Amino acid sequence: MEKKEAVDLKYSSTRGNGVKLDSAQAIIQGLAADGGLFVPDSMPKVDAAFIASLGELSYEERAAKVLGLFLTDYTADEVKGCVARAYGSNKFDAAMRAPVKVFDDLGVLELWHGPTSAFKDMALQLLPQLMSTALKKTGEQDKVLILVATSGDTGKAALEGFCDVDQIKIMVFYPEGGVSRIQQLQMLTQEGANVNVTAVRGNFDDAQSGVKSIFGDKAFNEELGKKGVKLSSANSINWGRLVPQIVYYFSAYADLVKAGKIEAGDEINFTVPTGNFGDILAGFYAKCMGLPVHKLICASNANNVLTDFLRTGVYDRNRDFYKTITPSMDILISSNLERLLYHMTGDTARVAGWMQELSATGRYDIGAELLQKIQQTFWADWTSDADTKELIGRVYKDKHYVPDTHTAVAWKVAENYQQATGDDRYMVIASTASPYKFNGSVLEALGVDTAGLDEFAMLDRLQELNDDPTPQGLASLRTKAQRHDGVCACEGMRQAVLAFAEA
Ligand SMILES: *Cc1c(COP(=O)(O)O)cnc(C)c1O
Repeated sequence: MEKKEAVDLKYSSTRGNGVKLDSAQAIIQGLAADGGLFVPDSMPKVDAAFIASLGELSYEERAAKVLGLFLTDYTADEVKGCVARAYGSNKFDAAMRAPVKVFDDLGVLELWHGPTSAFKDMALQLLPQLMSTALKKTGEQDKVLILVATSGDTGKAALEGFCDVDQIKIMVFYPEGGVSRIQQLQMLTQEGANVNVTAVRGNFDDAQSGVKSIFGDKAFNEELGKKGVKLSSANSINWGRLVPQIVYYFSAYADLVKAGKIEAGDEINFTVPTGNFGDILAGFYAKCMGLPVHKLICASNANNVLTDFLRTGVYDRNRDFYKTITPSMDILISSNLERLLYHMTGDTARVAGWMQELSATGRYDIGAELLQKIQQTFWADWTSDADTKELIGRVYKDKHYVPDTHTAVAWKVAENYQQATGDDRYMVIASTASPYKFNGSVLEALGVDTAGLDEFAMLDRLQELNDDPTPQGLASLRTKAQRHDGVCACEGMRQAVLAFAEA
């Protein structure tokens, strides 16, 4: 019998403070003490047999195999249990969880079949399970209180993921009047005994600053500590949010081999609509592990800081901020880029220097040599709202398929890539949201006049055009009872946290 040596992977900071942790500890802690992000100290490698073995497996089984390579301090049964609770039990409305819609010329990796109809579910269903298991494994007695400030989507996905998870409570702050009606209903109807949703009288920045200042308030954290409560966050820099995303790159590849679109070993390309650089970075991990990926194409909207960076090597956030029809990509600081820089250089001192420049001046320059190395794997472009809408209309006409706006940004950039390079490897588009989630912009792109239509009327109108049905989680909002009505001023956020911590 083949005997595999168990590799014991440790995690350390991208900024090099030398502390090495197990994955469970890294997931509980979230951010390293020096402000860096946790990264594995070596890259697990897979061979062709490993990839071939995924073909006949369910998504949960594929996930357990890939995750097991990174979460080496979790037992196989712990990983399996986490995965079953995250992706099993009817939470996803697709048998394959993250199915690939296979067209002749490209594949669309649908990452939005989870409870909130957006790709954040892929990670935020699993992170809470990994965290809860980590608390048990490490003998942590305190309760964890997750605080989230949301501009809409992340809050709901986090609520769904953490609801009724052992030893953890979750509190979400959103700007009063600053989220869409559907987003507000999604949050206010949230069930679960351990959840709280509170509106803040202010905008998103106020809510976010409020949460940040609570995290940084030592005296307040000590007060909570005496009550047996630790604060933590669910944001996309946590290793437990990144690692679940590696799985679907492998899963998509296995599905394409099965569908006969590629042969085992063929290289493919992925185009990913990018904001915080988490989704596409997971693809980079998959490639480093041995998945046959040629290029990872980074697609942005008018907030094209990453396009410029991947073309020039200069990251510069000193620029205008645009509100676009792809709000989940309206972002100027892509935190997960720090992990890429670490893996590309292995040089924590340089990474720490760039991050310090970024916070001091909003800008850093990685130099020509490193840029060239990054460009061997990454290509980047961006699209305007007008081009994004044009693409939605054209895809609908040609394929009778309705991509959401974020997906359409990637689709358009994938076309640009193929035209610019002539590369005809099979292309996979990461599809990050259901079109029903961004129904207003999608309907306009399809030439429908939305004046006078409320959110539910828009869902109905889109349903008439789209072959895919309205997701259950959105359709059921019409009749669900509202369970949360808390409102506070910015100055009242600490008090609200304290009250919920004690409840
Ligand atoms: C979060 C999000 C993105 C961006 O993903 P990152 O991992 O932040 O790059 C793209 N599309 C949708 C719909 C999202 O919710």
